Amino acid sequence: MKLPGWKELVETGPIILEAGNARKYKTGDWRTFRPEIDYSKCTTCLFCWLFCPDSSISFDGKRVEINYDYCKGCGICAAECPVKCITMKEEEK
Ligand code: SF4
Ligand code: SF4
Repeated sequence: MKLPGWKELVETGPIILEAGNARKYKTGDWRTFRPEIDYSKCTTCLFCWLFCPDSSISFDGKRVEINYDYCKGCGICAAECPVKCITMKEEEK
């Protein structure tokens, strides 16, 4: 059997053909736990926004919001929140 050369491998390998294509893939659908924010305790310190490795937390100038289409449920936001107002809850599908 003849093995493929590098040019054929490029066609099937994990390459990014267009910038920003991650928006097309909802990577949060295999999450096991989902973070939920208790806004009554949130101080808007933005630690969760800063530490989220998936940039799934946005800030509109007033409050932080989790985008569940992309949140993978890693729990880093909950671990880093200084007032512990983010709770990781088991995902219900
Ligand atoms: S659980 Fe992880 S991916 Fe989801 S918002 Fe928190 S830090 Fe981001
Ligand atoms: S880390 Fe906690 S207190 Fe800070 S903005 Fe996020 S949810 Fe609010």
